[in-house]
Amino acid sequence: MTDPHPFIAGLPKAELHVHHVGSASPRIVAELAARHPDSEVPTDPEALADYFTFTDFAHFIEVYLSVVDLVRTPEDVRLLTFEVARDMARQNIRYAELTVTPYSSTRRGIPEAGFMEAIEDARKAAEAELGVVLRWCFDIPGEAGLRSAEETVRLAVEHRPEGLVSFGLGGPEIGVDRPQFKPYFDRAIAAGLHSVPHAGETTGPQTVWDALTALRAERIGHGTSSVRDPKLLEHLAEHRIALEVCPTSNIATRAVADIEQHPIREMVEAGVLVTVNSDDPPMFGTDLNNEYAVAARLLELDERGIADLAKNAVEASFLDPAGKRKLAEEIDTYTTNWLRAPGR
Ligand SMILES: [Zn+2]
Repeated sequence: MTDPHPFIAGLPKAELHVHHVGSASPRIVAELAARHPDSEVPTDPEALADYFTFTDFAHFIEVYLSVVDLVRTPEDVRLLTFEVARDMARQNIRYAELTVTPYSSTRRGIPEAGFMEAIEDARKAAEAELGVVLRWCFDIPGEAGLRSAEETVRLAVEHRPEGLVSFGLGGPEIGVDRPQFKPYFDRAIAAGLHSVPHAGETTGPQTVWDALTALRAERIGHGTSSVRDPKLLEHLAEHRIALEVCPTSNIATRAVADIEQHPIREMVEAGVLVTVNSDDPPMFGTDLNNEYAVAARLLELDERGIADLAKNAVEASFLDPAGKRKLAEEIDTYTTNWLRAPGR
């Protein structure tokens, strides 16, 4: 196929690896910055585009934290969440598991109950007004250590918002061993949450094994280095443990040297359930549609192949069986109609 973008743009999609604050587009950041004029973040979307151009990973973290600092009240949380869903609706994302880091907000003084109410309010409004179904993954910011793990699991279990489905672990991997978080994951899993830690993005395949054995991961965030261990690939394929692949993010953070060297093809060829995701889309100058186009090119997919990729995300999601069936059918119907359209 020549240009996959029009097909991808209309394709109903599910996204499984995308961060809450990391999804704040320049439009949303400008709105938040206008609410807090004392911040250093520019309010003009054009100046913001420059502000979002990173020189290296440390600079990315710095900018990310300056956006975190703009989220100060429950109303900021509600606005951010609903506007992120609006950006998703524009891309025909019908279902998303959004990774939320409640610790970053409650630690900054946003009341716990107010935070939970704000995300739940936005979730219900997004579903009713935009047709986007949101679910939450509460994640531990790994760099903040075990105290943040304790807080995150407590917030998850005590408040247990209706949309919460999973428990994650983000932040840097180097120097932040996965097994130390086992007791917190045990508690989250006992409370009925799914385990979805980041692993093997900037470290080797052993981190993915650690996530599987110590944290009982049901999906792996990134898992890029899995391709270095054939036994691991075999294990992931056999147990249908999906990888949440975020191609552009991997280049931006230098987890992978350049896009032509991205291991997505090896993952697919090994029979692993691969899903495509955007991670922190505006910060990496991408969106989910673009990530699908990148994957389609690397994997040489036609429309059916792209639709199968979208269905992988539905399969690997934590939607209920009826919801999965419905979204998979929508993907099939859209694809069939597209291929039947005159002139194709
Ligand atoms: Zn991530």
